[in-house]
Amino acid sequence: MKPVYKRMLLKLSGEALMGDKEFGISSDAIRIYAKQIKEIYDTGMELAIVIGGGNIFRGLSGKDQGVDRVTGDHMGMLATVINSLALQNAIEQLGIPTRVLTAIEMPKIAEPYIKRRATRHLEKGRVVIFGAGTGNPYFTTDTAAALRAIEINADLVAKATKVDGIYDKDPIKHDDAIKYDRVTYDEVLAKDLKVMDATAISLCRENKLPILVFNLLQEGNMKKVIYGENIGTTVVE
Ligand code: UDP
Repeated sequence: MKPVYKRMLLKLSGEALMGDKEFGISSDAIRIYAKQIKEIYDTGMELAIVIGGGNIFRGLSGKDQGVDRVTGDHMGMLATVINSLALQNAIEQLGIPTRVLTAIEMPKIAEPYIKRRATRHLEKGRVVIFGAGTGNPYFTTDTAAALRAIEINADLVAKATKVDGIYDKDPIKHDDAIKYDRVTYDEVLAKDLKVMDATAISLCRENKLPILVFNLLQEGNMKKVIYGENIGTTVVE
């Protein structure tokens, strides 16, 4: 069987790395993700990853700690670099060549983000992790995921979440929440469905980049995504 996508961008939230912990990085959680990433890598598909930083720092929460928004966002972007390095290390331990490319230059620890360099790494079969979000405050890593996916011509942005798709209301709080198999970008924006922020959705809409929201922790789901089985929720035109 061949994967249905040639190049995919996987968006992982920072919180996913916490596992059962309240903060930071759980070594068990990161190993689970690395194993899932290996499943993708082994199919020969080209894979890029954007990881959030919410397990360490979020710009908005900095306000409570007396940190202004821009500084907080800078701290948040640095948090994504910490996560990127941790993930790179875990993936490399499974024998997968991986490069971290950051939107804020820090050449002692990672390569600067250059689109052509990123695509070259992908063509050579390396997993590429994009760190430091978009490099700009007032954006999110969801927007970074959409932006990078478009820049590298990915066929799909796969967003890993704790729930198995997009619902009309929060399925954790409401028993009667209904899951969508497929929604349009416009519906997501009009109904303010919690998928990605509006900037990320608009970018995907403008560039016709499909988004798949799915639960990465459910055994076998990664394979289903790769082979185009109907899981999660797809956001399309
Ligand atoms: N951030 C930013 N610009 C970006 C991406 C991220 O300023 O392009 C900051 C922002 O403060 C955000 C934090 O980095 O709160 C962590 O990212 P995010 O909240 O998206 O992570 P996640 O929720 O996916 O863990």
